[in-house]
Amino acid sequence: MTKEEIIAAKIRELKSFSGSHSPSIETVLQLIPEIEMKIDACFLSNPYATELFLNNLQEQIISKGHLRKMLEYYPPQNRDIGKFIQTFTNISAENIFVGNGAIEIIQAILHQFAERNVAVPIPTFSSYYEFLRQDCVLHTYLLSKDNDMALDLYKYTQFISDRKVDTAIIINPSNPTAEYITQQNIIDFLDNNKHLKNIILDISFVHFAYENEQYDYINYEQLIYQYPNLILVKSMSKDFGIAGVRAGYAIMSADRVTTLLDNGYLWNSSGMAAYFFKLLSQKSFQVDYEVIRKKYIAEARMFYESLKANKSVQVLPSKSNFALVELPSHINSFDFTIEMLTKYHIYVRDCSDKIGLKGNYVRIASRSEAENEKIVSALSLITNSF
Ligand SMILES: *Cc1c(COP(=O)(O)O)cnc(C)c1O
Repeated sequence: MTKEEIIAAKIRELKSFSGSHSPSIETVLQLIPEIEMKIDACFLSNPYATELFLNNLQEQIISKGHLRKMLEYYPPQNRDIGKFIQTFTNISAENIFVGNGAIEIIQAILHQFAERNVAVPIPTFSSYYEFLRQDCVLHTYLLSKDNDMALDLYKYTQFISDRKVDTAIIINPSNPTAEYITQQNIIDFLDNNKHLKNIILDISFVHFAYENEQYDYINYEQLIYQYPNLILVKSMSKDFGIAGVRAGYAIMSADRVTTLLDNGYLWNSSGMAAYFFKLLSQKSFQVDYEVIRKKYIAEARMFYESLKANKSVQVLPSKSNFALVELPSHINSFDFTIEMLTKYHIYVRDCSDKIGLKGNYVRIASRSEAENEKIVSALSLITNSF
């Protein structure tokens, strides 16, 4: 057996013990040290932003000897970090809730504010159903392959009213489909659903979306002043490439923020997350970030076009930094993932465990330009050889 065959056999064995879910990459790498991963196209982040953050951290904190202070002292409290976020969102701090990652926010708002009937388009980011309270009823709205997995907001509105939903969830751009719904369509949806108790709009990927050729930032934040039932959820993990820092925020009515803070979350951000938000409130950082945000969008678009040029696969429409790719029916998505990893050292997300997604789908993230070329060429080599 070749080294690749040995690794593939080991991964298959591992998978047979993990039920309907694929083993996590951490488990795979730990149990099979022979595997070399060179490109992580599973994690959906902007690698240039990670570098920008690191450079600033080095200059402003580490080289100045401030790291000790960051570790030794308590970080600012939730509302004080909210004041940093106020400076770049132009939203009053009383409407801002800071989370230890957006995951914590999703859990907090579902637990506190969902009444009973919660609607979620699927496939989705799994926390939106996994963290539901026991007494809530999950209403999954299944996206259709015939329609490129697009979310039709008129049909979704009908579904919401039929099911007497009080809390509706939309991720825009979506994960895992990468679909972007225009702001005007979102506004129409908000107008048609003013009677709902909560509309949770997750804009974690909005920095990668665009509605004009200048890739100008699309501002959803101000909508909360017009729509009191709107709750915006924003992770910083993907656009700033800092999942390890655990930073996210939500924007919502002031009374909701007070309710959450009355239940805890006083010092839920680390000193590193507090520094990150402080950095984001600096004009010079905002200018630097805006340059690489647009550079990364341009590269992600090129990547998307190269993926689409491969006629053996179906690439769903994307205005995000990744694409959901349907492999031809004879290529199993798990086998494909193994081949990418063992032969080309590229890790992509096998989506066979995603509820609401039937078929051989993999999710592939845009990385640096050089890495993207390697991903595209590996994809062609594999789809031509299977
Ligand atoms: C990754 C992700 C999150 C959670 O991110 P955190 O790392 O917890 O900030 C939330 N929503 C969506 C849609 C995501 O993809």
